[in-house]
Amino acid sequence: MNDGAVQLRSVSRRYGAGDNAVTALDEVSLTFPRGTFTAVMGPSGSGKSTLLQCAAGLDRPTSGSVAVGGTELTGLSERRLTLLRRERIGFVFQAFNLLPSLTAEQNVALPLRLAGRRPSRTRVRAALAQVGLGDRARHRPAEMSGGQQQRVALARALITRPDVLFGDEPTGALDSGTGREVLALLRGMADHEGQTVVMVTHDPVAASYADRVVFLVDGRVNGELADAGADRIAAHLTRLEAAPC
Ligand code: ADP
Repeated sequence: MNDGAVQLRSVSRRYGAGDNAVTALDEVSLTFPRGTFTAVMGPSGSGKSTLLQCAAGLDRPTSGSVAVGGTELTGLSERRLTLLRRERIGFVFQAFNLLPSLTAEQNVALPLRLAGRRPSRTRVRAALAQVGLGDRARHRPAEMSGGQQQRVALARALITRPDVLFGDEPTGALDSGTGREVLALLRGMADHEGQTVVMVTHDPVAASYADRVVFLVDGRVNGELADAGADRIAAHLTRLEAAPC
């Protein structure tokens, strides 16, 4: 079955060996269907980062398999994995990671340049317009607010039209109002562009923008909520943190 933008099947990731071995992910099976927005939550150390890294081909599972857009990552060479990440996976982080000496449009064009493609100005401008920054193309990061910089990072992540956009606390460095603007953009990308979005967050308000919240505890999936509001998500998280399975 390849109906998901991303599929994890019985993914385990262990670090170390012997007495020091840590099981960061324990037989996790998840599908992120196309055009959906999923939030991943859980206590610190529950495996959220490891899940994102394995799903994005940045880390390799110890066992199990991951497929992105129908392509199995298991067994791909480092070179092919790098190409797949570059072309089919978008990433936004808490830190915006823009290159300070480049303008907004040069930053957005970078993934295409790295892929050896000549970026069309129309396409780059359209990507900036999509995140509400059509009039900021020539600005450098230092001339923009945090929210604007994160929107440039979003345009850069989406310029290759990836199968999936991963976010690791993408609103963690933003004030709540600006964070909500970025979350509304992510919501709109899923609704109007069919973009698949998977975001790790510890913020129930951020998670409430998702269609589905997946909870991790001790490297395992420990429940899901669909179309939940921030209060319900926060209550669920509190219960998990108070009494992990
Ligand atoms: P979270 O993102 O939910 O805080 P992580 O995925 O970072 O959780 O970590 C899950 C578990 O795996 C933790 O116990 C952590 O200490 C361990 N872990 C993560 N990365 C490594 C690593 N490179 N080496 C050893 N242990 C690790």
